[in-house]
Amino acid sequence: MRLILLGAPGAGKGTVAKRLTAVDGSVQISTGDILRGAVRDGTELGKKADAFMKAGDLVPDELIMGIMGERLLEEDCSKGFLLDGFPRTIPQAKELKVLLEKLNITLDFAVNLDVPRDVILDRLTTRRTCSNSECQAIYNIKSMPSKVDGVCDKCGSPTIQRDDETEEAISKRLDTYEEKTAPLAKFYEEEGLLLSVNATSSDAVVEAITSKL
Ligand code: AMP
Repeated sequence: MRLILLGAPGAGKGTVAKRLTAVDGSVQISTGDILRGAVRDGTELGKKADAFMKAGDLVPDELIMGIMGERLLEEDCSKGFLLDGFPRTIPQAKELKVLLEKLNITLDFAVNLDVPRDVILDRLTTRRTCSNSECQAIYNIKSMPSKVDGVCDKCGSPTIQRDDETEEAISKRLDTYEEKTAPLAKFYEEEGLLLSVNATSSDAVVEAITSKL
């Protein structure tokens, strides 16, 4: 499958993407994960992206398009892909459209995961992520805690709160989402590609997507 997952930070794009990869081997492409990896590795990209990310701002479009232009050419994308956190601005969506046309790739649809802001705020402040870059398992101290507090079930590394998951950064990210990313739902509706789903449960989202495919 070839899908775009739209939705605010914390709407569950990553969780849904991980579950969909198990359906047909499509790969999850998360620009957030790629950028966090670059920051950790101290690459040029990471150095450029770091301050934007910490502040809860978007990284400039040209950096993101550079990443995606290369990523979509990789061999594993031939099985299909789930774009998680990209595109995030209208210029990115327009450039993606041109890129996909060039590569002769057709999207199935763009899924908009719709979740109320109070649910999102609660989810993000209680989210914990495995600090091991190879693992990055996600937990929630309320709804999905690790067996031992602060320790990843899968690899035993410490679980941490991401720098951009403090209340201040989250609030900024949600404002940025409303201003820059929410308009993408209308863009994909006009393209005839939008599937909007009430996303309070990831089961319901996965079900809605697989039945539409
Ligand atoms: P995420 O894990 O998807 O919430 O992304 C974490 C951060 O990475 C965001 O708050 C942005 O600073 C940056 N980022 C990720 N994807 C994009 C994108 N498509 N465009 C611009 N910035 C992005």
